[in-house]
Amino acid sequence: MRNLIIQILIFVVSVFATEVIAAEYSASTEPKRVVVIDPGHGGPRPGKVHRDIVESNYVLEVSKEVRKQLNRKMPDLDVYLTRSCDSAYHESQSTDNKLRAEFTNNKGADLYVGIHCNALGDTKVKGCEVWVLTLNEKLMNQNRLVGSRYADDGDFINPEDIDRNSQGFMMALSRQLENEPYSRFFAIECCENMAKYGLVNKGVKAGTVYTVLYYSECPGVIVEMGYLTNSSDYSYLISKGAKQEMATAISDAIVTYFKTLYGGDSAESGEDADVVETKPAESGESERVDEGYTIQLISSAKRVNVDDSQFKGYKGRVKEIMGSGSYKYKYCYGSYATSADAQKDLKEARKSFKDAFVVKYRDGAIVK
Ligand SMILES: [Zn+2]
Repeated sequence: MRNLIIQILIFVVSVFATEVIAAEYSASTEPKRVVVIDPGHGGPRPGKVHRDIVESNYVLEVSKEVRKQLNRKMPDLDVYLTRSCDSAYHESQSTDNKLRAEFTNNKGADLYVGIHCNALGDTKVKGCEVWVLTLNEKLMNQNRLVGSRYADDGDFINPEDIDRNSQGFMMALSRQLENEPYSRFFAIECCENMAKYGLVNKGVKAGTVYTVLYYSECPGVIVEMGYLTNSSDYSYLISKGAKQEMATAISDAIVTYFKTLYGGDSAESGEDADVVETKPAESGESERVDEGYTIQLISSAKRVNVDDSQFKGYKGRVKEIMGSGSYKYKYCYGSYATSADAQKDLKEARKSFKDAFVVKYRDGAIVK
């Protein structure tokens, strides 16, 4: 009889333990990531028109191809287009841009990618560039648009119209400060990818205040796929396969962005469950603890310096833990005796790293 009770107790405890482990792991499942692709202009506003290329139509075709490629390359990613036909959100260009930002925010986007083509009176200017938002006054003045362009062009906000003491500006500034490194990371990848094809890399630009970037809450960029007014850019863009190539460049940059920042854990679930080796970070904590809990902030395909600014308040206090798989660099913070202790700090960590979760380690390895 006593043996039977012990056996029942062992069974109950093992079932309970399995449930606890399962709960811990389901809590660590990464949320679905969202990207908004915004083909610029449309409806009453065709954007730039040069010979056979109408910007609004051209960028729509590229955007649709980006979505198609992303559905194949990263099926876990939610991809939204702001428009799928020749339409606009509003007759006012400024409101139209604000509504595109609102669409982005309502979708809970992790990244906004506006797709455009450029044009300029100076036909010698050529190449691709990607714009990020900055609210740095000096930069904005350097990039000030000429003349009355602000008056009839709601794509941009005139820096003179921004009340730098307003609550709206303060919110935009705090978002921009937080998002800019992420936007720039994407922008660099995207420029390099586009330059693999027929366009010269003009690099990442900042300073002109794009309305849609100002009002978007997530990291975001405006991709300019070359100058229609330049003969070599035009020849490339009109060539067969250019739309496909631009879409490949942009979608590859999006894949790199999400995989680098958030890891491939949602696509490769169970990766974190593998036993992994730890090694002390270059300049992080050198403490050795046999058993405990830590908070995984991010995992990355590429090695990240623990002093990198992306670690924000945790900079220099992050431990690098090597794992297996494509996202083998895990960056963790803290050592805790109990899961409950770690959970207390997790709340704070999630303010900066919304996918952070608690992992257990024993003898220098993450364990289930
Ligand atoms: Zn445009």
